[in-house]
Amino acid sequence: MPPRDTDNRPVIQAEEILAGIKRWVEIESPSHDAAAVNRMGDEVERDLRRLGARIARVPGRDGYGDILTARTPWGGDGPGILVLSHIDTVHPIGMIREALTWRREGDKVYGPGIYDMKGGAYLAFYAYQHLVRQGKQTALPITFMFVPEEEIGSPTSRAAIEQAALANKYVLVTEPAREGGKIVTSRKGVGRFELKTKGRPAHAGARHEDGRSAIREMARQVLRIEEMTDYARGITTNVGLMSGGTGVNVVPQFCTCEVDLRVPDAAVAEEMTARILGLKAIDPDVQLTVTGEMNRPPYRKNAGIAQLFDHAKELAAEIGFELKDVELTGGGSDGNFTAALGVPTLDGLGVDGYGAHTDYEHCFYSSLEPRARLMLRLFETLT
Ligand SMILES: [Zn+2]
Repeated sequence: MPPRDTDNRPVIQAEEILAGIKRWVEIESPSHDAAAVNRMGDEVERDLRRLGARIARVPGRDGYGDILTARTPWGGDGPGILVLSHIDTVHPIGMIREALTWRREGDKVYGPGIYDMKGGAYLAFYAYQHLVRQGKQTALPITFMFVPEEEIGSPTSRAAIEQAALANKYVLVTEPAREGGKIVTSRKGVGRFELKTKGRPAHAGARHEDGRSAIREMARQVLRIEEMTDYARGITTNVGLMSGGTGVNVVPQFCTCEVDLRVPDAAVAEEMTARILGLKAIDPDVQLTVTGEMNRPPYRKNAGIAQLFDHAKELAAEIGFELKDVELTGGGSDGNFTAALGVPTLDGLGVDGYGAHTDYEHCFYSSLEPRARLMLRLFETLT
């Protein structure tokens, strides 16, 4: 039986929220494991069907899971609220039995993906469930979309996300809150690039002078790229992956590296993309090829987002906490796609916590109830 108050009315209860989050967290769902992500999708779908939601499921492709969409039975097919969540995590299967077991220590609750973002996805579900328990409907229809591969950059979901955003008036993203419950109203853009160098192989002892090292060339390029970081302008570059060579006694013929770029706005995105794609080999005997592009466009707090934020801030004050937003976060999310299209988007509405993508990922138990209430009030008041 759902928890009720003394007047027999259903209540929002942190303990019940946490039990639901636990059930979702225990179904591990790494982005690259389509079967695992779909098991998670099955559970979410069952939960939403029980509430009478209209379900649509687009089969996964390119090795990723299905895109699950659920819509409130009320409100017709007109524009409403899109709630965007992802059900994949960065954690491999088995984390919950090893490095990141489910446990509660004071206000901290640990588990793979509990913070990013099964906690937030569940909050939105719970708010919807609370409406149904009370027999209430909202002015606007609500569409819940569950993305299977956000942690990879949503390559197979982006088009569906953008289409859904354009068909709605508002987008609420259940990514984690940060720094004491702050939400996100602007995000940097994210670019991904790959560099390949091709030199000339040679025996490192007998024919060293004939060799042209692909690794040596890449090392110089890596420094060029890293030097493009400019904190004052909000630009960061990171060579996060690198591989090359075939043996310690061989002058290496091949080397590759992968670059992550973060930029504050569209003009800088264009400038930096051109700079990276325009890199030329320093050694004339080594070939350099550069590929890549912006993956998530940057977005800034515009009038529509500011208005939506002010509204959420008022609701939070009624509930009893002060809602703040972060300046310009470097983390990308599916909110980048929707906000860049001009659809008012609030991101970071999920649970508060710490340690996304690490083996100490946790959420704050104390954030569950107030954040569920905020989600519910947004559902109830947006028109
Ligand atoms: Zn996330």
